[in-house]
Amino acid sequence: MPQEDPHLPVRPSWACTICGAPWPCPPARHRLTADLDQVALGVYAAELMAQAAHDLPDISAADLFDRFLSWTRDPNGGFDPDARPT
Ligand SMILES: [Zn+2]
Repeated sequence: MPQEDPHLPVRPSWACTICGAPWPCPPARHRLTADLDQVALGVYAAELMAQAAHDLPDISAADLFDRFLSWTRDPNGGFDPDARPT
C-alpha cells in the first residue's frame, strides 16, 4: 500500500488531506495506479469504497462506484476522471 502518499483521505468526509478534493483525487488515483497492478488496485479500491459507504450514507452506490472504482478499470492502467465504463 502506498503509505507515503500524501494525498490521503480524511475520514469520515473522505476529502483529500492535501488538495481537499473528494478522495481519491487525481494525484491519489495517479499514485495508486502507479503503485498497484490492476487487480490489486481494484481490490484496494473496492475495500475503500465499502468503508466510504459506511461513512457517506448520503452518496449513492452509483456515485461511490464512479468515485472509487470506475477509474480503476482503465485497461491502460492510467487514469481519466472523465472516463466511464461502457
Ligand atoms: Zn489530493
